[in-house]
Amino acid sequence: MSKLICHQEKVNELIAEELIKVCPFQAIENKDGKIEINSGCKMCKLCVKNGPAGVMEFVEEQTATVDKSLWKGIGVYVDHVDGEIHPVTMELIGKAKELAAVVDFPVYCVFIGHDIRQKAEELLYYGVDEVFVYDYEELKDFRIEPYTAAFEDFVNKVKPSSLLVGATTIGRSLAPRVAARFRTGLTADCTKLEMKEDTDLVQIRPAFGGNIMAQIICPNTRPQMATVRYKVMNALE
Ligand code: SF4
Repeated sequence: MSKLICHQEKVNELIAEELIKVCPFQAIENKDGKIEINSGCKMCKLCVKNGPAGVMEFVEEQTATVDKSLWKGIGVYVDHVDGEIHPVTMELIGKAKELAAVVDFPVYCVFIGHDIRQKAEELLYYGVDEVFVYDYEELKDFRIEPYTAAFEDFVNKVKPSSLLVGATTIGRSLAPRVAARFRTGLTADCTKLEMKEDTDLVQIRPAFGGNIMAQIICPNTRPQMATVRYKVMNALE
């Protein structure tokens, strides 16, 4: 985490005007002689670099980091309705295998539902190392709480470093809840995924109205979570 600090004791009317002009996002306001930063701040640091010397300061705060060596493997959520697996799952398995090869990780699937054991075996033909099946009558239809609980159980037991979820109606509902339970990051609608050698997943997606491709990493928490839309990645033969 990081924050901007304004040294108010160095601010007078002239300096306040100078500061306001330097911010391209109109995030600096002068409230009765006191500088305030509003929610428009993009942390671009221009006020620190180009503003009056020593008035604004950017402070990088130390954050707790996770022991990455305890988190191994790439997990893929098996998106399905009544056991009919959504093809986005196969696309994500293909991508997971590519990413896993960089850091020599196994690829897992987590399959939650009822009467799905036979279908789970099919996934092994796509080169998945292990399929974790949660097969209970109560999980027959997608319901957010029990599905989140099963997914959470999988993450706690297996400790996958990254999790890929299809950006389907179910995936979009499930992934944020799982991410919140682990207080970890989730990047929605990634168009490209890359793996760094330190096991950080580079999640690439358009940002700022498609004007830039943002590369998002989640270096301090695990698991790293990404959703990907159908037909963005290629399925394996
Ligand atoms: S960091 Fe950038 S956006 Fe934020 S107040 Fe400074 S200049 Fe404005």
